Amino acid sequence: MASQLIREWTGIQQFPAATQTKLLEMLGKLKQEDVNTLTILVMGKGGVGKSSTVNSIIGERAVAVSAFQSEGPRPVMVSRSRAGFTLNIIDTPGLVEGGYVNDQALEIIKRFLLNKTIDVLVYVDRLDVYRVDNLDRQVVKAITDSFGKEIWRRGLVVLTHAQLSPPDGLSYDDFFSRRSEAVLKVVRLGARIKKQDIQGSSVPVVLVENSGRCNKNDSDEKILPNGTAWIPNLVKTITDVVSNGSKGILVDKKLIEGPNPNERGKFLIPFILAFQYFFVVKRIQRWIQYDIAMEDIPAWEKRDMAVASRKF
Ligand code: GDP
Ligand code: MG
Repeated sequence: MASQLIREWTGIQQFPAATQTKLLEMLGKLKQEDVNTLTILVMGKGGVGKSSTVNSIIGERAVAVSAFQSEGPRPVMVSRSRAGFTLNIIDTPGLVEGGYVNDQALEIIKRFLLNKTIDVLVYVDRLDVYRVDNLDRQVVKAITDSFGKEIWRRGLVVLTHAQLSPPDGLSYDDFFSRRSEAVLKVVRLGARIKKQDIQGSSVPVVLVENSGRCNKNDSDEKILPNGTAWIPNLVKTITDVVSNGSKGILVDKKLIEGPNPNERGKFLIPFILAFQYFFVVKRIQRWIQYDIAMEDIPAWEKRDMAVASRKF
């Protein structure tokens, strides 16, 4: 397939020298750890900047970006190789349609990923949005239900549109930490990650500014309002996630066709229902039968029964 062709990663050459040096250094480190291929899955709602972020990392217009039109229905994998290292980035269509998670889009993504290993999940949202809602949680839940919650051990959150002036007199860093805390909370809820699970392994949040009008430093690198050169920072975080001791997620037939990987205890359900029937329903039924039996007895008779029982 044309979209699967591995091309030389020439886009790297259009980065300023400072960025190129850092990127090649990071790829070198990965190769030292015997990582020669990296497959990154990019997911999120529509219009948040997924495709733009793919293009920013690759350094060329590899996938279509659009402000208004809805995206194509299929995922696209962009593969580039450089000095024996292959980078695969899978751009996906937005997961939301008409206010709901689009299960069909999710199904297509799962089939596309069959027999691939996801090394990193990049979950994209915008920095310049002030609220999270139930839909965000549903999107995270859908990803978790598809690939298992372990995928978040290989996950990072990217917040785009990061070149902004925060509202309400907040400092940039305060705004960033509030927004990232809100998004992370939704990720924890949607992925049902327990408090004790996250210690020492929280999902990192990275800022991205895909706009051509992004400010630059003296070395011509694109920087955020806090001075961070964001492309090397993003790639560094990706390599950190790869090296955190967790495993990539192999998308095999069992994973996409089997039961929800988070509900493996499902076989217990018949036993639990049987238990409830015998120990709860039966007992309540007995109580009800007793009440009905008592109701048939006239009040004076019940009184006499009580008096009679007191006599003995
Ligand atoms: P996708 O639907 O998630 O793939 O989003 P796109 O990458 O197609 O972007 C949607 C729109 O947002 C396009 O008009 C992009 O130019 C714009 N966009 C994406 N990322 C950024 C960003 O970081 N900053 C700004 N200013 N615009 C962005
Ligand atoms: Mg897109």
